[in-house]
Amino acid sequence: MANNNKQSEICYMCGRPKSQVHQLLKGKYGYICDNCVNDAHEILQKEEEKIISQNMQLATPRQIKDHLDQFVIGQDNAKMALSVAVYNHYKRISQRKKSDIEIQKSNILMIGSTGSGKTYLAQSLAKYLGVPFVIADATTLTEAGYVGEDVESILLKLLQVANFDVEKAEKGIIYIDEIDKLARRGENTSITRDVSGEGVQQVLLKILEGTVSSVPLSGGRRHPQAQCIDIDTSNILFICGGAFEGLEKIMNRKSDSKPIGFGADVQIKNEIDTVDLSDVQQHDLMKFGLLPELLGRLPIITTLQPLAEEDLIRILKEPKNALTKQYKELLAMDKVKLEFEESALKRIAELAIEKNIGARGLRSIIEKAMQQVMFDIPDIVGARKVVVTHGVIDGTEEPIVYGARNKKIA
Ligand code: ADP
Repeated sequence: MANNNKQSEICYMCGRPKSQVHQLLKGKYGYICDNCVNDAHEILQKEEEKIISQNMQLATPRQIKDHLDQFVIGQDNAKMALSVAVYNHYKRISQRKKSDIEIQKSNILMIGSTGSGKTYLAQSLAKYLGVPFVIADATTLTEAGYVGEDVESILLKLLQVANFDVEKAEKGIIYIDEIDKLARRGENTSITRDVSGEGVQQVLLKILEGTVSSVPLSGGRRHPQAQCIDIDTSNILFICGGAFEGLEKIMNRKSDSKPIGFGADVQIKNEIDTVDLSDVQQHDLMKFGLLPELLGRLPIITTLQPLAEEDLIRILKEPKNALTKQYKELLAMDKVKLEFEESALKRIAELAIEKNIGARGLRSIIEKAMQQVMFDIPDIVGARKVVVTHGVIDGTEEPIVYGARNKKIA
């Protein structure tokens, strides 16, 4: 009898006995080994990925934009450019039949001041598409062998985010921030850095165009024994971003009118104010020290508008995960309703504009004001509602706390 039992202890999928596997899992009708469980898991995962990639193909530019609208306020031009570029990019990837017409890769350059939503747009896009996404800072990039983060380490990061699934990483999105500052690093001369930034630009342009890059798994410096993985970058979408400060002036200089005499300065200033950045050409951007070949690999250029006070107020209130909604959710867990007076939101927006860092400033301002509220409220017995006023943001007033039947208690 005991012998019979032993014989039946085999995997009913692959037939391997217990002695040849790590683990045999007992089910109602037999055993299954750990190898077969892993294989089945992989098959299911591949199926899931297939569904995601079908989603990518199914999402039309309008659907992509509709999704972005839920998170990002304004910036309609950039949203449209991104939606179309991404749609075409994934169409290009899925182009199965051989064609004489090779669709060019639609890498994108976003121009916009700090905190206008460049990174956030790229991030929201990648999340929607379910593809691996990484952010790199152009100012820290160096050529392989120099001190700093070499260009290939971005690919390693992408691979890590994709759980070392090379196929998945090869369809990811890489956002490279501060691309406009790439060439300026020449200012701090150092023998351990690629001084001109040109070497980095050369490596970047190869990767942007599409190359098979051998990525050392250990990261950091390449050494002969390092284990490497080949990554083909042809289907990785690159989105670059930069503020390109002073671009208005460069574009304005193109129009040859050089007024002289009384009032000329005012006239120049007015002209700069009315320069339409969306007319930007690649040669305007070369003035920032970027190689024409690199700019050529970024065929889609889109500009983002600086966020005005009304936009910042909308950002505080409207997106799906808006900051005020997040605090409301937190206080709702203490069974307290949170309200922001319109004047409080206006004050937060004003302070963010003073800081000159766009929507990036909102979080720290609201955080500072809400800290005391979050500290006090859980201990105020009977608190049902708290109202944040203009003065709370300025630190000159306490928030108003209401108890049952809307009675003011603090
Ligand atoms: P940039 O890359 O242009 O410097 P970010 O995208 O990093 O700016 O913006 C910083 C933060 O500000 C984002 O994480 C997001 O929360 C918020 N933000 C910026 N722009 C917008 C926008 N247009 N709509 C909604 N939130 C925004």
